[in-house]
Amino acid sequence: MRPLHILKYMLVLCLLGNVLSCEDSSVKVEMLAYDPISDEMIYKVNTVETLADLGKLEGRATRLRGGVSIILDYLQEEVRWDRVGTPVAFSAVRIDDVYYPTDFDSLAMISVYYNIEQAMLFFESIGMPTGYLGRLDTYYRADVIEKMDPYIPEPEESVDNAFYLSISETDRGFYILPFAVEEGLINGVPLSMNPGVIAHEYSHAVFQESVYDKLPGYGIYMNEVNYGYLWALNEGIADLFAVALTGDPNFINPSISFRGVSRDASDVIIYDSSFDRNIINASQESFDPYQIGAFFSAAVYEMARRIQGLAADGPEIPKKGYRHLVAKATYNAIHNLGKQGAGQFEPADFFSYFVTQFEPGQASIICGVLIERFSIYYSEVDGCSAI
Ligand SMILES: [Zn+2]
Repeated sequence: MRPLHILKYMLVLCLLGNVLSCEDSSVKVEMLAYDPISDEMIYKVNTVETLADLGKLEGRATRLRGGVSIILDYLQEEVRWDRVGTPVAFSAVRIDDVYYPTDFDSLAMISVYYNIEQAMLFFESIGMPTGYLGRLDTYYRADVIEKMDPYIPEPEESVDNAFYLSISETDRGFYILPFAVEEGLINGVPLSMNPGVIAHEYSHAVFQESVYDKLPGYGIYMNEVNYGYLWALNEGIADLFAVALTGDPNFINPSISFRGVSRDASDVIIYDSSFDRNIINASQESFDPYQIGAFFSAAVYEMARRIQGLAADGPEIPKKGYRHLVAKATYNAIHNLGKQGAGQFEPADFFSYFVTQFEPGQASIICGVLIERFSIYYSEVDGCSAI
């Protein structure tokens, strides 16, 4: 009888806890969100589905923490925590059934939670099991100092960035850095309020779990070129998932004025041998994973367009169903990659797994895109050479 009593007691506790601590509950909250159609930030009431505790912004998608301070010391190859952080306090007034945040941080924090939730639900819709990533904390307005240049011993805190970091198997999370403010104004759409940017970071968490964690001896036995290709795939499909979720091939544009290569998935990018030379010749510090990364996302985006029947390399955005189709195939492909080991990974390996996810008519369309954009390694894509 004893266990039953405990169970009952737990149930009572859950009910007393206002339902919030025991199951997902749905709340309507006004947020500030980027609207790609008008290219403006607009206030919008969204329904948040997975919060367990609205006051602390904790739920199935993530748990927000404030006041964190860390040093990422690339020179010593270690992470040092100055402050581990505390729960945040979300402040809002409730009018009818809608919560209206009463300060800027509350407005920003609920947007971050909502965007992470949207990314999680998107991945669940393409096959990710519930709870697959375990608990992921989100460090809001984290003080992060990155030591990477031996000639700058006391670098300033980083601003205007958002990233995913896996410190260990149990310590993984998203870092939302303070907003850069110039002359009292935030420049562009803050990264944390850009749903595509958050989906990109969420994808890194999925990739960590499904590929990097599965590699035997990852980081020890892998040579730098294979590591570079895998890093490029990680970045490229992160952009692709963000495009599939938002429907905006250039989702990052409102947030970042570009310094490096374009990451617009609607660009026509042909893989040529200079991409390989850039990997082979670059040091780990100078390597830019977005060159090959942008090739991956643009190629898969074009595959979605052509499977839908759109004209080659045109401006029309593929419909949601076709974006989901290629996102699901990408998700399955990286899982196969993780299962079978990606220690010798080269770009053709990804497409070999990807193309097998499709029925023959669609596979031949995919191979058609690869003939045009990936001709130098086309013969190494298993599913295509058979056609
Ligand atoms: Zn990234």
